[in-house]
Amino acid sequence: MTDSSAPLGQCPSCDREIPAAWKIIEYDHGDGNTGVFAECPDCDAVVKPR
Ligand SMILES: [Zn+2]
Repeated sequence: MTDSSAPLGQCPSCDREIPAAWKIIEYDHGDGNTGVFAECPDCDAVVKPR
């Protein structure tokens, strides 16, 4: 099984589910967690999915 196509999360502005394909970059928090920035299809802006 793979979850590579799982949604990244929801847009903090409009609550839209953001597909994995909209991911822009991943970054390392430095504490073992990985954050991600993505473009929201609705807001047409870079957001941090939650
Ligand atoms: Zn949005």
